[in-house]
Amino acid sequence: MDINELKKIFGEHYGSPQAVYASPGRVNLIGEHTDYNGGFVLPGAIDKGMALAIKPNGTSKIRVFSVDYNEACEFGMNEADKPEKGWAKYIFGVVREMDKRGKKVEGFDAAFYGDVPLGAGLSSSAALESTFAYALNDIYSLGIDLFELAKIGQATEHNYVGVKCGIMDQFASLFGKKGNLIRLDCRSLEYQYVPFNPTGYKLLLVDSCVKHELVNNPYNRRRESCEAAAAAIRRRHPEVEFLRDANFDMLEEVKSEISAEDYSRATFVIGEVKRLLDACDALTKGDYQTVGKKMYETHEGLSKLYEVSCEELDFLNDCARRYGVTGSRIMGGGFGGCTINLVEDAKYDKFVAQTLADYKAKFNIDARIYDVVISDGARRLE
Ligand code: ADP
Ligand code: MG
Repeated sequence: MDINELKKIFGEHYGSPQAVYASPGRVNLIGEHTDYNGGFVLPGAIDKGMALAIKPNGTSKIRVFSVDYNEACEFGMNEADKPEKGWAKYIFGVVREMDKRGKKVEGFDAAFYGDVPLGAGLSSSAALESTFAYALNDIYSLGIDLFELAKIGQATEHNYVGVKCGIMDQFASLFGKKGNLIRLDCRSLEYQYVPFNPTGYKLLLVDSCVKHELVNNPYNRRRESCEAAAAAIRRRHPEVEFLRDANFDMLEEVKSEISAEDYSRATFVIGEVKRLLDACDALTKGDYQTVGKKMYETHEGLSKLYEVSCEELDFLNDCARRYGVTGSRIMGGGFGGCTINLVEDAKYDKFVAQTLADYKAKFNIDARIYDVVISDGARRLE
């Protein structure tokens, strides 16, 4: 699928588009479970995303065609006239959130498609929200800054989809820049570009294609552990708001006051904040071996201390080690989904072929491979 085909499909439904936009999915190189601990994340936009052809239609109705679902959906701007299709909720949410901010959108026609794998942890939903948010802001000259557009996407997930996500995905989709990752401070929302030009390496995801059912909401328990450890430290060090502010010495001081489980969880988080900063230093120096080492350490911590891995993800991480991959770790919350891997060009073919074979032999599941290149964020194409 390319832009001309998209325009042709738009044409079959709605005439010729006024403009065409695109917005990507994202990866996060390192920095897992750090967001709700006030720490940093290190995402980058990828070369897979959503493309959208759009034109105001002079009515108060929104008419959208999803190329990938081969479905059309028509809806209005208000709750009384909301869309029925699941995928259209993301678009309706963006329009509603703009309206709540006093930014008026009028009726439009749109057609869109995407190549971000759905539900694999590359944030196809943020790509979708960001594309529409960016496009509407542009064609209606609403003057909303990129940060607010990211918040509009996040609020769409919270209020219209029911996913209580952080801001990283929408942020990366909008602020992405070719050849750069973005170090985002999840507390202050300050950010900084960090060069990522891994000449001689490829970045790829291996999708375990499993998602384990979560019982007793393990994510909430992880958060509670982090909060308990931070609270214990804060009693001695009032400046510690989140675990991000703590160090290992502080944690040792309270070891006897918190549970062994809380101690392990906090050890991971404090280590992860430091690993991310170390990885940023290494990236600035172009030292990808050290970056890779940090990724393995993160995996180890997620598996042994934070305990959000699973047999399949640990197996994929072992494959990476076995076939000489420079860095590999779980990407995302855990219990399934993808590993993100930094692999030398010369080792790529063997790693992929062997891992697919080994994984199939062990679990009888076909893993999926997604190559990614760090690319630009939301933009107008035509
Ligand atoms: P992800 O981790 O990829 O963001 P989500 O479950 O949050 O997974 O979002 C996936 C949903 O986003 C899909 O169910 C669909 O509603 C919407 N979506 C994503 N990509 C597309 C697409 N190409 N076309 C239509 N809808 C899409
Ligand atoms: Mg999503």
